[in-house]
Amino acid sequence: MKSRRLFLKTTAAAAATAFSLPSLARFAKIKIDESNKKAFVLNKFSKIDKMKLSWTPYNLQLKHTFTISGFSRTTTPVVITKLEYDDIVGYGEASLPPYLGESQESVIDFLKKVDLSGFTDPTQIEEIVDYIDSIAINNSAAKASVDIALHDLAGKIIGSPWHKIYGLSKYEVPDTTFTIGIDTDEVVKEKTREVMGSYNILKVKVGGRDDKRMIRAIRSVSNLPLAVDANQGWKDRHEAIEMIYWLKEQGVVMIEQPLPKSDLDNIAKLTEESPLPIFADESVQRLDDVERLKGVFSGINIKLMKCTGMHEAWQMRQLAKSLDMKVMMGCMTETSCAISAASQLYAGMDFADLDGALLIANDCFSGASLQHGKIIASDMPGNGVMPTKELNFTRV
Ligand code: MG
Repeated sequence: MKSRRLFLKTTAAAAATAFSLPSLARFAKIKIDESNKKAFVLNKFSKIDKMKLSWTPYNLQLKHTFTISGFSRTTTPVVITKLEYDDIVGYGEASLPPYLGESQESVIDFLKKVDLSGFTDPTQIEEIVDYIDSIAINNSAAKASVDIALHDLAGKIIGSPWHKIYGLSKYEVPDTTFTIGIDTDEVVKEKTREVMGSYNILKVKVGGRDDKRMIRAIRSVSNLPLAVDANQGWKDRHEAIEMIYWLKEQGVVMIEQPLPKSDLDNIAKLTEESPLPIFADESVQRLDDVERLKGVFSGINIKLMKCTGMHEAWQMRQLAKSLDMKVMMGCMTETSCAISAASQLYAGMDFADLDGALLIANDCFSGASLQHGKIIASDMPGNGVMPTKELNFTRV
């Protein structure tokens, strides 16, 4: 068993390496020569500057109380990061829904351990994220907050938005789902009516006795396609398959995490029998998880906060596609900082759930925006983000 795990890990890592970006530094030089004189000068004279990392905790206020599987909340804590090099600034974010086990305190503790003094070139992304990952296990959102800021900074130095560096068209993206939380029929109908015209697909959180009632309430006011997220809430495969057939008749187009995350044998059978694609969310965290889920799920839900950021998200996307698995881009409740990062790399994916910044009342960044039901990246370099409020960054 151990050797099989090791084998899978090795092959996954080898496959991922094959899909990592071509030497970014080489690419960067070409771009810099052509389009960014300031960065070119900076590079040419090898000015030894240090990257400076700072951060600030921030609390997101949700527009509506959010309920999934009997758990409600009205705020989400985040930490915003800032990475400076010369006078160029990159921004990142860690989003910390309480059930994921990280907090503003744990993120700040992690960030205090980050020492970037050994790196003089912010476009050495591979080396820097390897170092960040080696600081401690887990802490995925904390790692993502550095990775996202680093990508924003490196993209600005290169003078290009990341979707162009990846070779993607920012418009060739799937519609984003808009999530309708578990609530009374009246509230569900009201929320659905409110968002009609802005979205082309809705997402429903299920996983309890109220599943059919929720779907019927939405169907009484809207014919939009629906994505369904059970958040591991169904416990029995036979009941789940019956439910999926019923949901298909109701215009549901995909199912996320129907059964508990470790119940892979039953999920594999369910996927085989299901008339709808089945996506892993809680069952997949990082790159090492992807290959063993081939044949178990139809596809995977990639989230920056689970997988330590854009560098690994890109590798997961490329590996999953090479394995002929479907891919979707998801998010937590996040500001436009992290959503804009996700918006750079999801062109060509099958589904998207990038409504995180649209659910909050106090977004503190501008960047990617909702256009005809899709989240579209900005044309500005890096991740295309700008703070819209004064944020007091500190470091020790
Ligand atoms: Mg989910």
